[in-house]
Amino acid sequence: MRWRGVVTDGVYMVGGPDISNVGDAASFIVDFNGELIMIDSGTGFKPQIIESNIHELGFDPHNISTLILTHCHFDHIGGAPYFREKYGCRILTHEIDSVAIERGDYIKTAAKWHNVKLEPLEIDEKLTGESAFMPFNGDGLHWLHTPGHTPGSICLYTDRGGRRILFGQDMHGPVKKYYRSDVNQWEKSMEMLLGLEADILCEGHYGIFEPKDKVVRYIKRCLRIQSRREAVNHPPDGWYRLTD
Ligand SMILES: [Zn+2]
Ligand SMILES: [Zn+2]
Repeated sequence: MRWRGVVTDGVYMVGGPDISNVGDAASFIVDFNGELIMIDSGTGFKPQIIESNIHELGFDPHNISTLILTHCHFDHIGGAPYFREKYGCRILTHEIDSVAIERGDYIKTAAKWHNVKLEPLEIDEKLTGESAFMPFNGDGLHWLHTPGHTPGSICLYTDRGGRRILFGQDMHGPVKKYYRSDVNQWEKSMEMLLGLEADILCEGHYGIFEPKDKVVRYIKRCLRIQSRREAVNHPPDGWYRLTD
């Protein structure tokens, strides 16, 4: 598992708990022939560190055309206003989770969990439906609606040099009532992600998994842990312990 810098050619981890701020989910830059796409933006507690990591990689953040938010949680979206205001990128998320973000919903955005107030954030473009290909400068990203952790969660993937890179972010969960999680949808989404046969998994909180068999093992382990929780009728709480 690696925690910073180059994930693979043109894919970079620029933020995360060990990189920018302990509360931040991982954030990534994908370079499409000079057009930069950012995936998630951290809490916004230390966006300057994410910004300086982008510079350190030799990129100009003004070339970020699009910031994709994978779901409505504060640790993924809090930094979004900083990047849009400073660099003019458009913000994009699934329409279902956009409602909580645009309202600044204290509970549904998990702002309560982080003990912060979240200002309502306008979304520039809302994804609708179940999946599509987003073209960016000669290539692009596929997005998939993967409900479960939240109703409007998405995952993304792109193929580079014969390898499939999956941005799974909070695919692991947790599954909680007050996030409007749905364990049945979550299981279906995880099975769908297994079917992508990704070679590299960029996870929102647990780092980078590769090669393919490690990605498979990780997803299956999440499914096993969840089914054990269900079996003992114990409501899932907190982050999964992935050492099981
Ligand atoms: Zn998260
Ligand atoms: Zn989340």
